[in-house]
Amino acid sequence: MAENQLYVVATPIGNLADISQRAQQVFDAVDIIAAEDTRHTKRLLNHLGIQKTLVAVHDHNESQAAGLLLRHLNEGRSVALVSDAGTPLIADPGYHVLTEVVKAGFNVVPVPGPCAIITALCAAALPTDRFIFDGFLPPKSTARQQYFSSMLKEERTLVMYESPHRIQESLSDMVSVYGADREVVLARELTKTFETFLRGSLADVLARVESDNNQRKGEFVVMIRGALQAKKLDVSDDAIRMLTVMADELPLKQAASLTAKITGYKKNKLYQIGLDLSL
Ligand code: SAM
Repeated sequence: MAENQLYVVATPIGNLADISQRAQQVFDAVDIIAAEDTRHTKRLLNHLGIQKTLVAVHDHNESQAAGLLLRHLNEGRSVALVSDAGTPLIADPGYHVLTEVVKAGFNVVPVPGPCAIITALCAAALPTDRFIFDGFLPPKSTARQQYFSSMLKEERTLVMYESPHRIQESLSDMVSVYGADREVVLARELTKTFETFLRGSLADVLARVESDNNQRKGEFVVMIRGALQAKKLDVSDDAIRMLTVMADELPLKQAASLTAKITGYKKNKLYQIGLDLSL
């Protein structure tokens, strides 16, 4: 393993068995591990049977920490950067350190591994060819609703992090902006004992979260199906709304057939749209 390098190393988001072999090799080989919370990372290293010098790098000390890490790199040492869980820099500290290290001309080596966004998306059953991630939702309801409104016409799958204290309120805000029928997937406690995926309309998922305390505990990734690409589908928004309402009460074939009779669109086209929307 080369000297003078910064390794950006992903760590588990719950299940310790998700640590990669390469991450362990890097931890073994580097001189210093820069960690968001040194006590937290120490527990992971103890589990792996590795002892290293740890340096704290968090949101409140990144400038000083960058200076210290640059000195280590200048003196020929190698450094691994980790956050508490998942991939560093993804809604986590490290950006300042990384830009300084790159500016100073040192090599940076990513060591990929768990990331809550990707873990959630790959099992959500929502379109993953295009998605948009804006980090944590704003904590205040007004700002949250403004954010949701700004994404009303967004066609890509929306992915966001939310805290357990606000998950219910945020889902209510989503219902006010997107309506009760927009599809949502709540990925909770990924890779842990109580891993749960709640899939359904916003109204359904909100009702399940409201009625069960356990569904408000732990860590969450929220994913919302993007706005329907009505133009590309070549049918009106009204026809899609009609199809959606009917498919709540009837088998999709019948819903498509009735919507076709009322709107004049082709039954097969509406049926296919229903399938695409998982109605
Ligand atoms: N860097 C991390 C990553 O790669 O996913 C994310 C760090 S961010 C500070 C922490 C947030 O990620 C949590 O509040 C939650 O929204 C999400 N998250 C992290 N671990 C998770 C898990 N096991 N299940 C669900 N969401 C998780």
